[in-house]
Amino acid sequence: MVSASADFDAVVIGAGFSGIYMLKALRDRLGLKVRVYEAGETVGGTWYWNRYPGARCDSEAYVYCFTWDKELLQEWEWSERYPEQPEILRYLEHVAARHDLKRDICFNTRVNSAQFDEASGRWKIRTASGDEVTGRFLITAVGTLSDTNLPSFQGLERFRGKWYHTSRFPRGGVDFTAKRVAVVGTGASAVQAIPEIAQQAKQLTVFQRTPNYCLPARNGKVDPERVAARKADYDAIIERTRNSFAGFELARMAKSALEATPEEREREFERMWDIGGFIFGLGNYQDVLLSREANKIVADYLGDKIRRAVKDPVVAEKLVPKKHPFGTKRTPLDTNYYETFNKDSVLLVDADTDGPVEEITERGIRAGGKEYEFDIIVLATGFDAFTGSLKALNIEGSAGLAMNDAWADGPRTYLGLAVAGFPNLFTITGPQSPSVLANMPVAIEQHVEWIADCIAHMREHGLTTVEAVPTAQDDWVAHVNEVVGGTLLPLGNSWWMSANIPGKPRAFLPYLGPEGIGGYRRRCAEIAAKGYEGFILA
Ligand code: NAP
Repeated sequence: MVSASADFDAVVIGAGFSGIYMLKALRDRLGLKVRVYEAGETVGGTWYWNRYPGARCDSEAYVYCFTWDKELLQEWEWSERYPEQPEILRYLEHVAARHDLKRDICFNTRVNSAQFDEASGRWKIRTASGDEVTGRFLITAVGTLSDTNLPSFQGLERFRGKWYHTSRFPRGGVDFTAKRVAVVGTGASAVQAIPEIAQQAKQLTVFQRTPNYCLPARNGKVDPERVAARKADYDAIIERTRNSFAGFELARMAKSALEATPEEREREFERMWDIGGFIFGLGNYQDVLLSREANKIVADYLGDKIRRAVKDPVVAEKLVPKKHPFGTKRTPLDTNYYETFNKDSVLLVDADTDGPVEEITERGIRAGGKEYEFDIIVLATGFDAFTGSLKALNIEGSAGLAMNDAWADGPRTYLGLAVAGFPNLFTITGPQSPSVLANMPVAIEQHVEWIADCIAHMREHGLTTVEAVPTAQDDWVAHVNEVVGGTLLPLGNSWWMSANIPGKPRAFLPYLGPEGIGGYRRRCAEIAAKGYEGFILA
């Protein structure tokens, strides 16, 4: 039963991986009075909302979990290398029950606004159901990919069939049997959903705006001996992932792709291709994201893989990316994605060669001047990443400064953790932090622990407010842009670059540190050790 009291030490918004760990850290480690608000009916966040067919984790399960419950690391048995959405949701439910977290979470409750009251030095938080509470600290745990991108396709309201967005699938699923189905989009969600839907549907038509470089996931059961070895080695695994580039046990080769011979490259590429997963991106030659020439070698290799997997050369050519370098958009992991286009019942409509989606009609979709008829349309069109879910909270800081105004030209943060003008606000995996460029639980745990340590430090020293210094923030924003500017990443029209939402100011949203999450972690620790350099504590 959630406590009725209206004043809290901290209010946390969101009960996914980050919100539930933040609650655990503040309530059970620091003994604070905490209230969590969650729009969904239970914990899970991403893993509660994204239940489209085929939804599963792209990180390997043994590192896609909490590391702070050491017993659970030993006890929990994942069924596959990459577990499906229901299994991850079960895991998070189990964590919530085991640590008695739900009693402090208000479910089915969306936060509508949050205002910092300078007189009391507290945040006033209002919910859609009319609750009003205050908190000394406001901590957003709203996820980077939670605000659904529903493109303003003309005519969606007149479609006579059913339509769904991948991130808002109905509980209990959708029966595609004997149906004519459209999937719009070919990002990571679509790449997982398309092979599953194609198995049921009478006819599946995929509307592609930009083809992606997909890498084989190679999912399956993990050898029990390997599972046991990992369990015995967890402390070292945690150290390695925390100090790695991207939160995995993977590191780039200390060599340029241009220095390797063609035979050596072929051998290395095949090795990584066979292992499957993110190794092809994260364990590749060090200059793949730095040099166009090195990148082209990788892109050509992957293009050939697509041409070999897809029987119809015309379809294969549509699936080969031509406009963006490899790795400049999030690389989906696939299981039978390309092979699905070999089915007679699957059609690919490519924006460049067949014409873009023009409108939704009563009977289906018009693209390239032709009407395609459907019973069901699945929009796999992604998210207003990072800023969408924060902007929806209508946060106002000191002197009535609205975050939506402060960020009109793109987000500005210090470390992706705090925002100048917004005292006592922390943003877990916020914009300009490594977040989605790392394995998320590793990024989340680092933020949660840093925030909890900062609050503990304030308490010990009798301090009540913490706020980012504007110049420290300016320097951070410049650093984020400088680092990414030295790579090929700005060449992709990705959601990382804010390019998927019409009118969104073009800005790189995560932080690609020169040393990744490991370097970022060290930098945050140094800042804390220097008495929270770049913050004003009062
Ligand atoms: P996404 O990567 O943004 O893909 C959206 C797709 O819809 C793209 O193909 C996009 O084309 C297309 N699209 C968007 N607006 C459109 C429009 N107006 N007309 C036509 N096509 C349009 O979204 P997502 O697939 O949901 O994935 C988002 C992120 O979620 C991933 O990158 C990943 O980080 C995460 N994710 C993770 C997992 C996992 O780990 N298990 C699974 C799924 C997703 P363009 O490319 O041209 O913009």
